[in-house]
Amino acid sequence: MVKIGILNLQGDVSEHQTMTQQAALKRGLEAEVLKVKTATEVAACDGIIISGGESTVIGRLIKENGIDKVLKEKKIPVMGTCAGMVLLGRETDFQQPLLGLIPMKVKRNGFGRQKLSFEADLKLKSMETQYPGVFIRAPFAYEVGEGAVVLGQIQDKIIAVAYKNYLATAFHPELTEDTRIHEYFIEEVLNCVE
Ligand code: GLN
Repeated sequence: MVKIGILNLQGDVSEHQTMTQQAALKRGLEAEVLKVKTATEVAACDGIIISGGESTVIGRLIKENGIDKVLKEKKIPVMGTCAGMVLLGRETDFQQPLLGLIPMKVKRNGFGRQKLSFEADLKLKSMETQYPGVFIRAPFAYEVGEGAVVLGQIQDKIIAVAYKNYLATAFHPELTEDTRIHEYFIEEVLNCVE
């Protein structure tokens, strides 16, 4: 049984919880999926998901609660979506606390005003069929460092990245009915605890 924590500081946390539970069920994997808030709760998890929301707010609360230290010290696998992707990066165009767990530079709200929200069928690496990408004031990565694997792009904008035990998507897999991204993350977590 793995324990997956959805970081419950701000943003669309419940959607991720439901989606992770569905993904585990679909794969027949035993996973306890719970909302977590404190460093102690985070430390007890095998994997953490950081939702979309406001990355400045989530980042500040992560620091205030000492969650950044726990994630780094315990090398806990993390998946970050949208605001979560921003937080996993090393650099953004804003002054804000970041986790810096993935060597990538991120542009916040990168798709501009005309495209505040949109949907796009995505061709992602290792996925046989397209994935329905939901983008809401989404960021993109424009530079990744050594070891980071680009999993998807829209033209030159990088919208999914994997690095070590970390996964970032600019879009919101929790707002679709397609559980494949969450399945992938649970598999990653399982590989780490085995
Ligand atoms: N633009 C937001 C941020 O950078 C992210 C938006 C979202 O998570 N939907 O904080």
